This record gives sequence, C-alpha cells and structure tokens, in this order.
Amino acid sequence: MRRLTLGLVLLLICGAVSAKQIKPVIKSATKPATAHAVGAAKKSAGKAAPKGPPAKMLFGAVTAPAPLAARAIGSYARGCLAGGVSLPISGPDWQVMRLSRNRNWGTPQLLDYLERLASDTRALDGWPGLLIGDMAQPRGGPMITGHSSHQIGLDADVWLTPMPDHILTRQEREDITATSMLKDPFTVDPKVWTPLHTKLIKRAASYPQVSRIFVHPAIKKMLCQQAGKDRAWLGKVRPWWGHYYHFHIRLKCPPGMTGCEDQKPPSGDDGCGTELANWFTMLRSAELAAARPTTPGAPSLPKKPPLTLGDLPKECMTVLSSGGGGPVIAPDGTVPAALNAVAGKDAGPPEPHLDPEALAALKAQMSKSKPKSKSAPTAAAATSASAGDAAPTPASASTPASASTVGPDSTQSIPAAQASPAAPSVPLPHRKSQ
Ligand SMILES: [Zn+2]
Repeated sequence: MRRLTLGLVLLLICGAVSAKQIKPVIKSATKPATAHAVGAAKKSAGKAAPKGPPAKMLFGAVTAPAPLAARAIGSYARGCLAGGVSLPISGPDWQVMRLSRNRNWGTPQLLDYLERLASDTRALDGWPGLLIGDMAQPRGGPMITGHSSHQIGLDADVWLTPMPDHILTRQEREDITATSMLKDPFTVDPKVWTPLHTKLIKRAASYPQVSRIFVHPAIKKMLCQQAGKDRAWLGKVRPWWGHYYHFHIRLKCPPGMTGCEDQKPPSGDDGCGTELANWFTMLRSAELAAARPTTPGAPSLPKKPPLTLGDLPKECMTVLSSGGGGPVIAPDGTVPAALNAVAGKDAGPPEPHLDPEALAALKAQMSKSKPKSKSAPTAAAATSASAGDAAPTPASASTPASASTVGPDSTQSIPAAQASPAAPSVPLPHRKSQ
C-alpha cells in the first residue's frame, strides 16, 4: 500500500514538475515522507527492475540537512551529504543567488573555502564580491534540474558577474541573469571579460584544497593567453561545456573524510595545447549538430536511467531518513522544494549560436578538413552521454573529456540526428548548465 501511495505521489510529482505548475504548498504535518520513500526504495532495491524511484526526486524534496556528522559520502556525481551546513545568504564579500532553490548547502570545508575566497579576492585582487550559484541540496544527492555532480557538498558554482554594491532583495536574486562571457560559441567577448576575471579564477584555483575549476573552453583559452609566466594554477582549470557565465569549483575530499571518493588529480600540464585544440574541434562539431533539424521518427540514443537510491552508497539511505526535515510532499502529491527548483529562472542566458552565414562557412570549413585522428572525440563518446548523465564520456584516455575526467554538470541531450552514422562524432554540449 505504501509503495502504491509513493508510486502515485511520484507520478503526480513527475506530472506536476513537467507541467511546471506550482501548486499551493501544503506541508505534511504528519511524519516525514522520507520513511515511506526509503522503505519503498528498500523493498524495490532487491528486485531487478524497477530499482525504485529516481533518487533526485527524494533528495530534491528534502528541505533540511541530515542531523549527522558532516561528511561527503560517495563521489561528486554519485553520492550525498551528511550534516550539511548552509552558506549564509549574505556575507561581507558574497551573496547567494536563486534562494528558492535551497541549494546553498555544503560541507563546512566548502563554506570555509568560499568565505576565504570571497574575502581574499576582494582584498587582494579587487573583485567586488562573489555571487554564489548552486552548491548542494541540504542532503546533497542528485538534483531534479541542472547538474549531475554537486552531490556531496564539495562543488560550487560562482557567477562571473561581479557582485553589485548593495544587498540584493530575494526577488532580485531570482530575477537577475548572469552575464555571458561569450561573443560567439568559440570566443570570449573582450568587452565583457576583464583582467579581474582572470585574477578571480587564478585565485580560486590557487588553494591546495581545490581539485578542479571548470570553465568554457573559450574562457580556458583566454586564461591561457593571459596567464603570463606563472602557469601552475592553469592545470587545475579544465574546459567543460556550459560554463560561460559561471565557473565551477570542485574541492578535493577533505583529509581523513572516510567514504568520500576523490577524483584523479589533473594531468599536470597547463592544458593549453592539444587538449584545448581538441575541445575546439568538439565545439565546432557540436555547433553544427545543434543547428541540424531533428528528423521526426529518427532513432534516438538510449537514455541512461536516472540514479536510484540503490545506485548511491548505502549510507545515503541513512542520510535521507535520519531525523526530521525529510521530503515535504503535499497531500496533493506536489513537492514544493522540487517545484521551486524547476520553476526558477535559469541563472544565465542561453548559449550563443552562429548566424546562418557563419554556420554555412563553418560547414564548408569542416567538410574540407579530414576526419580527425583516433584521439579526437568519437561517436562512442556521444552515445554514452545521455540525458541526466554527467558529461560526454571519453572514447579513449587521450580525449579532452578524459583530461577533465568527470564533468561537473548538467543534463544534456543528444539530438536524434546525432545517432545516425553521418552525424558528427561529438557529444552535444548541454544548454542548461547552472
Ligand atoms: Zn556546477
């Protein structure tokens, strides 16, 4: 019966979420629905399929942290957060944006880092203050919108828009759109990008606890040009799709934090050579793919199923069910927290695309060039990336994707046309990175 109820609830959630309707928030006054949800997930975990509700529905509906010792559990794109702490929405040198999403949670180490960065970059570089985008949900885990990582309280997005000189109202924090740094799909706009942006990202990468910083390939190129002689920090700054109005900070697992799974350290070079060139090849192919109309009825790539509780470390079950403050599911089946996240305005403007004339020129140029070598991204990479997946999966150890390893962000989709053999052999960049 409980399972049936949960099934109905989730059905309603899906319907409500896809319809983007916000129904009245009626908090369940009885015991949290977590127990129901976890129980159902446990029961179904033993069977082959289905493996239970998508974990993003459960974690997306939680409004308070798990009252446990603070710990990042699992890996960046497959884990959860115990004892999460929330970054104050306004500090001396920062302000949190899109408060309705309730994603300003993290490990204490992430909060310490952000506060230190905000203070240092203001005092030492002259950056006016940080606008903080998504961090993690109160108990981490997968999100209904926007990211595939940000699950364990060690990732944070920071806007490339300088902080205004006043305290923003809650409404302003919902309404303001971040500034795109791009002039076109391949180039940073020199009218928008300043030496201060370079200083900010250099500062962010300079702390030993930072594992990686993700930026759009065009931004990486600009950083390569502006870095000067001190280039050690550049190795941590990796290109990735979608990071053109914000950059993404990823911290290493704090020392001694058991159950936290680190990523391999970056390769060590500055990433300004072959890797960056390969990214630009991918960008060009992706631009062509994005412009191609989809054929109705064309075969689509198989979609990777969403993560369930069974896919996450076992301890995430405890994280979800401990204490109060579990998922708030209204009697009508809506999940206010999830609906807020879905209904919110995208943080940044859409990615720029080429005009028809420039696109035609690019097509001509691409058709003249020979097919790329094995080290270039391949169709295999494209097929393994699907909606809800982390990012394009590398086809070989030498692809740019593998150099950046697990991508930071976002849901992406591959158009049906790309499944055809004639399609360019690249993954498509996601359009909704936050
Ligand atoms: Zn991010």
